Amino acid sequence: MSLASEFQAQASHPTAPLALMGGTFDPVHWGHLRVASETAAALRLPELRLVPSKTPVHRTRPGATEAQRFDMLELGISALNDPALRAENREITRATPSYTAFTLESLRTEFPTRPLIWVIGVDAFLHIHTWFQWRRLFELAHFVVLNRPGFAVSQVLSLEMADVWQGRLTRDIDALHATTHGRVYLHTVTPQAISATAIRNTIAAGEADQALLALLPAPVLAYIRAHHLYTQSPIAT
Ligand code: ATP
Repeated sequence: MSLASEFQAQASHPTAPLALMGGTFDPVHWGHLRVASETAAALRLPELRLVPSKTPVHRTRPGATEAQRFDMLELGISALNDPALRAENREITRATPSYTAFTLESLRTEFPTRPLIWVIGVDAFLHIHTWFQWRRLFELAHFVVLNRPGFAVSQVLSLEMADVWQGRLTRDIDALHATTHGRVYLHTVTPQAISATAIRNTIAAGEADQALLALLPAPVLAYIRAHHLYTQSPIAT
């Protein structure tokens, strides 16, 4: 059996954990890809799907379309060559807004017995209590929170966030495999000082490919150049 089909067999088991990492991926970069792959390996997750969100209706800057973001995501995942990683299109193909609660509900309907694990950078998790139906999210999935340069995972443990983590925090990877939802696990990955904002700004500033190749896979950069993406300066808000 090839490594890819071995992963496929493991991942489709009715109790195999299914991890998801949501984002705009505008564009996908090595930061996303490396932390996703490292987390899947460390937490023994046979499948981690990257889930691009719909473009917000009132977007304030030029960027790639949903289809282009998805194309780039697929190119980036192929460049990484980790059989655990997939692109998931359910948020951009459905009619309703990209609320994580809706996404997790549809996954829970499809996979009633699999642990669902939402992997998220600490910068995003610090705002979780402002998300649509945020308490419901913990009835649907576990959360794995990753460090990001400028943010330590321990920031989650502030008193203001106690409502989010108290009674949910675990240090036990097995707990993420043994139950289907409800736990918060803080995971430290190799720091990746890369953001999509910095990439878009670098391109808008007219920098050559050399400055960008350390930040995102070459096929993603080739796609950006072929489609003339991110060449306009961001609109100030
Ligand atoms: P932007 O600069 O446009 O806000 P971004 O680089 O933060 O984009 P997103 O698509 O918004 O990328 O991020 C998706 C998810 O990946 C979020 O949970 C975010 O915290 C996480 N993430 C993105 N980049 C990193 C990184 N370098 N290290 C750790 N987590 C990251």
